[in-house]
Amino acid sequence: MAAPAPGGVTVPRGDGTTVIRLRRGSSLTDFADKINANPASLVTVLFHLGEMATATQSLNEETFDVLGEELGYVIQVVSPEDEDRELLGTFSIDIEGEAEADEEFLVARPPVVTVMGHVDHGKTKLLDAIRQTDVVAGEAGGITQHIGAYQIHTMHEDVDRAITFIDTPGHEAFTAMRARGAKVTDIAVLVVAADDGVMPQTIEALNHAQAADVPIVVAINKVDKEGANPDKIRQQLTEYNLVAEEYGGDTMFVEVSAKQRLNIDGLLQAVLLTADAALDLRANPDKDARGVAIEGNLDRGRGPVATVLVQSGSLHVGDSIVAGTGHGRVRAMIDEHGEAVEVATPSRPVMVLGLTSVPGAGDTFLVAPDDRTARQIAEKREAIERNAALAKSRKRISLEDFTKALEQGKVETLNLILKGDGAGSVEALEDALLQIDVGEEVELRIIDRGVGAITKNNINLAVASNAIIIGFNVKSEGQNAEYADREGVDLRFYSVIYQAIEEVEASLKGLLKPEYEEAELGRAEIREIFRSSRFGNIAGCIVRSGEIRRNSKARVFRGDRMVAEGLTIESLKRFKDDATEVREGFECGIGLGSFNDIQNEDVIQTYEMREKARA
Ligand code: GDP
Repeated sequence: MAAPAPGGVTVPRGDGTTVIRLRRGSSLTDFADKINANPASLVTVLFHLGEMATATQSLNEETFDVLGEELGYVIQVVSPEDEDRELLGTFSIDIEGEAEADEEFLVARPPVVTVMGHVDHGKTKLLDAIRQTDVVAGEAGGITQHIGAYQIHTMHEDVDRAITFIDTPGHEAFTAMRARGAKVTDIAVLVVAADDGVMPQTIEALNHAQAADVPIVVAINKVDKEGANPDKIRQQLTEYNLVAEEYGGDTMFVEVSAKQRLNIDGLLQAVLLTADAALDLRANPDKDARGVAIEGNLDRGRGPVATVLVQSGSLHVGDSIVAGTGHGRVRAMIDEHGEAVEVATPSRPVMVLGLTSVPGAGDTFLVAPDDRTARQIAEKREAIERNAALAKSRKRISLEDFTKALEQGKVETLNLILKGDGAGSVEALEDALLQIDVGEEVELRIIDRGVGAITKNNINLAVASNAIIIGFNVKSEGQNAEYADREGVDLRFYSVIYQAIEEVEASLKGLLKPEYEEAELGRAEIREIFRSSRFGNIAGCIVRSGEIRRNSKARVFRGDRMVAEGLTIESLKRFKDDATEVREGFECGIGLGSFNDIQNEDVIQTYEMREKARA
C-alpha cells in the first residue's frame, strides 16, 4: 500500500505490525531497500519529522523508531551481540548450538570477583591484601605483575579453590564492560569503610551490581580504626535490600582490615560460600576459548597486549584469535606472576601477546578456526563498529536549527579520528569531546578511534571522510606525517585532554583561525640619505643582520626608540638595479614609500607574520 507521507511523497506503508530488522548503524538507504522505497523519499519524510539526514548516513535507533511509527513499521535494530551471533554463524561457529552440546562437559570454574565501593574506602588496599594471601604464590613469589586481574588459591572446606579478582581501580571497568553488554563479574565485593559508612559511590556500586544481578558480599573495612562502627553499616545497607545474615537476610557481611590484613581469609570464604549458594559456575574447558578483554595497552617492546578473561573453553599459545576488532595468533601468554602460560582455562585471566591492535575493556574475544577466519571476523566487526559509532556519535540538529543554518549556508560537519596511548584515554577523550556544546551550525562526528600510532589507514580514512586526526600521547608512524601532509590531512597531537577539547571547541565555533606570530627578517643601518624628488628619501644602508626583502613589513628605530612602524619596504636597490633581497654585509638603497623622516644611524627592522605552529 502506498499513501502520501509527510512532505507529500509516496512511500510504501506498513500496517503497523510489519517488522523490519535493521543492523545497528543502518542508513535510510538500507531501510528503503527493505521496504522497496526510494531513499530520497525517506529523507524527505524524516526531514518533515524534524530531522535531517542523508540517505547513506547511519541513524540511531530512536530515529528509526520515529520513522517506523510514522510509516507503519516496527523496526528492530539488531544489537552487536546478535550481530556477533549471526556473524559467527556465517563462519560456521554456532554459539547456541555449542552451549547446548556443552551441558555434559561442564566443570566447575572459579568465581570472578570485582571489588567496588566508595573512593578511599580501601579497594586498592584490599586487592593488595588479597594478593598477599595467595597460598600458591607463597611468601617469596607473590603476585608481581599488574595485568588487570589475578587469580589466587585458598583452602575452603579442605579443598583448594581458586578465585579470580578483577584488579582495575574503581568500578569504571565494571561499568564500561557492562555498557558493552559484557558480563564479567560473578560476585561483587562491596567495600565500606567502618569509620565512614555508606557513601554515594557505595550506593552507585551496589546499584550497578544489583542491576547486573550479581550477588554482593559486603566487606566492612578499616575495623582497626577508632570509631569503626560495623553495625551501623549493616543497619544502613538494609535500606538497600542488603540484609545481613545476622539480621535474617542472605547477604554475607565480613569485617576486615585491609591495612592490618585482618580476616582476609574470612572474606575469601564468604565469597566462595556465596558463589556456591547462589551460582552455578560451570564451563566447558574442552573447546575453543571465548571470553572478554579486561584491559589493553600498547607496549613499546611487545606491541599490543591485552589481558583477557577466559569464560569458556581453553586458550592455547598458537591459537588464532579475534579480540574486539584486533586479531592475531597468540604468541605468548603471561600470568600475574610474570610467568609464561601454555593453556588458560575458564575464569583464568592472562595477558596475551600477538594481537594486531589493542581491544577495549569489555570487548569479546574468541578463538577462530584459522588466521584467515580470525582476520575476516575482525574486519567484519570493525565495519559494524564503525557504522554503529557513526550513528552514536552523530550529534543531531533540530529542524529549526537546520533551516536556520541552511539559510545561512552553514551546515558543517567536523569529522574526527581519535588515536591514543590507551583504550581508557581514547574513551575519556571521546566522551569529553561528545560533551562539547557544539552550537547550531556544526556537527561533531567521531568516525573512528583506536589505540596506537597514527597509521596510513587512519590517514586514508581521514582523506576519504575529510577528517582531522587527533593523537593523544601518540605519534604518527614513520613516514606517515609526511604522507598526511601530502594528502592535506590535519594531524593534531596533544598530551593534555583539556587542550584537545579546547581546540576542538574553538574549531567548532569558528573553525580555528590560524594564529600568527612575528618573525624578524633582518636589520639595516642607515649610512647615508639620498633625496629624490620623484621617489622621496632613499636610505643608503648596510644590512647588519638577516636580509632585507622587498615588500616586507618594516619599523624604524632611532637608538632605543621606535619612530615609525607599519611601513613597507617599497623599493630595494643594489646600486642602480632593483633587488628582491639583500643579505647581511651588503649595501643597498631602501625606499619606505611616503615615509621620509629618516636620519643617519636609524635602524630599519623588517619582519613578516608567520602562521604559528600549534602545540
Ligand atoms: P580506594 O580509593 O578505595 O582504592 O582506597 P585505598 O585502598 O587507596 O585506601 C584509602 C586509604 O585508606 C589509604 O590511605 C589506605 O592506607 C587506608 N586504608 C585502607 N584500608 C585500611 C584499613 O583496613 N585500615 C586503615 N586504618 N586504613 C586503611
